[in-house]
Amino acid sequence: MKSNSKGLILWLTGFSGSGKTTIAKGLERELKERGCLVELLDGDVVRTNLSKGLGYSREDRETNIRRIGFVANLLSRNDVVAIVAAISPYRTSRDEVRRTTENFIEVYVNSPLEVCEERDVKGLYAMARAGEIRAFTGIDAPYEEPLNPDIVCYTSEETVKESIAKVAAELQRLEYIPVKPQLEYFI
Ligand code: ADP
Repeated sequence: MKSNSKGLILWLTGFSGSGKTTIAKGLERELKERGCLVELLDGDVVRTNLSKGLGYSREDRETNIRRIGFVANLLSRNDVVAIVAAISPYRTSRDEVRRTTENFIEVYVNSPLEVCEERDVKGLYAMARAGEIRAFTGIDAPYEEPLNPDIVCYTSEETVKESIAKVAAELQRLEYIPVKPQLEYFI
């Protein structure tokens, strides 16, 4: 199948609950509408198969990111837009993937920790605060912000639609993806 896109890795990083999965799924839909080949690698899903058995130590998190990066790289070489949604808290791991990939776009899904904790989409912040889970990013494990992200989505200030549109517009501007087809009506 021919893709309308240039292959790339679109790497979404940010706290748990910042909006990575929501934006990734919306973009997946948006890009498919534009005739792009898309694959979504979501951290939560990857941990149930490709990275099953890995924990949350620095070493295990780095291994997880390396594996996701490896697969995303194979996809992106074949004209697929590989969307990665993973906390990926360590700058060195993200930069390593960037170095080994031809086309890499880092999206910082930026929301204050308090907002993510307030959302507590999966109930994990409450568990981390109660000491029921350890090494939780933002609570008792570090998050290293991107220093030069290609795109920043401020998800406590933007709507989901705005965040998705912002990323799609930038990919379009960089000519990775085609312009959204307009519906034409012929009478
Ligand atoms: P993550 O994948 O980063 O853990 P989720 O996507 O699962 O986060 O959850 C993010 C939550 O924040 C969702 O409930 C979503 O509706 C909400 N949200 C509010 N504004 C935005 C936005 N601009 N972008 C993405 N998510 C948003």
